[in-house]
Formats: sequence, C-alpha cells, structure tokens
Amino acid sequence: MTITPEVLQPIAARLTDLLENDRLPHALLLEGANAETRKEAAVQLARVLLCARLSDDAPGDEDAAMFGGMSLFGADTQEEDARLLPCESCKHCRKTTAMAHPDFLFLEGDTAARSFHIDAIRQMRQDARLLPNEARQKVIILHQAQSMTPEAQNALLKLLEEPPDHTALILTAPARHMMLATVLSRVAVFSMGENCEEANNEQQTRVNETAQSIANALAAGDAYTLLCLTARLEKEKDKEFVRQCFAQTRCALHGQLRGEAHESRREIILMQMERVRALEVAMDRNPNQALLLSRFAAAIYR
Ligand SMILES: [Zn+2]
Repeated sequence: MTITPEVLQPIAARLTDLLENDRLPHALLLEGANAETRKEAAVQLARVLLCARLSDDAPGDEDAAMFGGMSLFGADTQEEDARLLPCESCKHCRKTTAMAHPDFLFLEGDTAARSFHIDAIRQMRQDARLLPNEARQKVIILHQAQSMTPEAQNALLKLLEEPPDHTALILTAPARHMMLATVLSRVAVFSMGENCEEANNEQQTRVNETAQSIANALAAGDAYTLLCLTARLEKEKDKEFVRQCFAQTRCALHGQLRGEAHESRREIILMQMERVRALEVAMDRNPNQALLLSRFAAAIYR
C-alpha cells in the first residue's frame, strides 16, 4: 500500500495542532472521502504515531517524546503538507510498512452491514489493555467501523469509556451518523471531505439486501427467517430505513411474481405483497414500528 502524506491533508492542521500540544484524543473517527482514502489516512496516522520520532524515548526529553513536540515537524521541511510524515527509516516505520509491527493492529469489517463482529472487538479490547511491546503506544485501526454490529459497538464502548493511556484507537466510517450515538460521543471526529455518495450507496445496498431476504422468506413461507429479519429491524433506530426496506421488499416480490408460472405460488406472492402494502400503510399511521413488525412476522403462521 502506498501512503502519501497528502492523504492526511484535509485534517493535517488540526492533527498537527493536537500533536504539538500533546492533546491527541485516545479515540478518533475518520469520516468522509471513500473507503480507500480513509484506510490510507488511518494507516498513515498510525505510522506517524508509531514512528521513533514520536514513539521512542528521547533521552532527557521525556515530555517531547510522547507526542513528539516540535521534533516531529522539525527542520526537515517547512512545507505544510509534509508535516505529518513518519521518518521511513526507523524500525517502527519499517515494520508498519510491512504491516508487521507488534503494537499495530488493523481490523476491518467487510463491506456487508453487520459484518464486524463482537468477537473481534472483544479480542481487540484485551489486546488494547496490554502494554505495548516496542513502541511508546499501541495503535489500533478499526476500518469500516460502521459495519460493526450494535453488540460490537457496545463492546467497543467499554474500551472507550476507560481508554488505556498507551493505546490510540483510529476508527473509520463513511459518515459519523452511521455509528451509535454512545460511541460517537466518545470519539473525536475528523472529516476527510465529502462523503454523501458513498454513505447513500452503502445505505441503498443495505436496503436492497434486507428487502431481498424478506421477500425470499415471505415467498417461501419461511417463518423462522422472517422472524429473525423483523427482530433485527425492530431494533433499528432509523425508521426511514425500515420504511425503505419494505417498499423495496414489495418491488422484490413483484420481480418474483413475474418469474413465477405456478398459479398457487403466484397467489402466495400476491397475498404477501398485499400484506407488505398493509404494513406500509400501518407504519404511516402508527409510530410503534416494533409492534407492527412483530405482528407482521407472527401473522405468517396463520
Ligand atoms: Zn520512523
């Protein structure tokens, strides 16, 4: 992976200020831009934090060593965009480049929603509490943190509430609103730039995947799967997301109807489309989505 210093440019001024004053928070969230840029920025920042310029004990200069003081931005260059540069030659830089530094942990969910599981966070939490091996601090990146399950985010919360002094956490997500509010309140958010497109695309992908699963369960009369899906939606805080899922479910069922030749199957699909439509109408009138959803799921047994 090539990391350019420019990747930190949108947040360089603020980062530099915090580092110079030794006030970098224990947990950061990088939002915006695209996933690859966020990843590069997170790794670049990790390399800066682990580099010997910042990381090793400087004899007789204990205070400056923790976050580098001016030594990090020293006489090498006065250029604005060259400030947040790791030295590239110390053992820490060489090991982070090879993604093999014992105090550097990189975790990510895959692109699917809720693919970042609690087990990974629990394991990370244990790691985070251990003292660093070689550097002055551990740096842990949680890339695509928005794909954490709510359970995983709650597990992360325990670490954020009592962050170990020697650990820096760098989260990335397309947009801050994709994280639980409790997590958000304990991280410092850094905006990398415009992000709406990706956030919307990811949201649309989630809607489509959920809708397809619901449509399949309805058409197959699969009560168990339907109950699991609606139970998850009952906990969803974004009510508009739930609405979109069911509007899309009706479209997915309509697609199945067109491909279905058997009359009895067509009747089932039509009936399920009617039920989804009724649910949408009910959700317009009744704000208690959770109740409507559990009734909707239970009715499949009739
Ligand atoms: Zn270095």
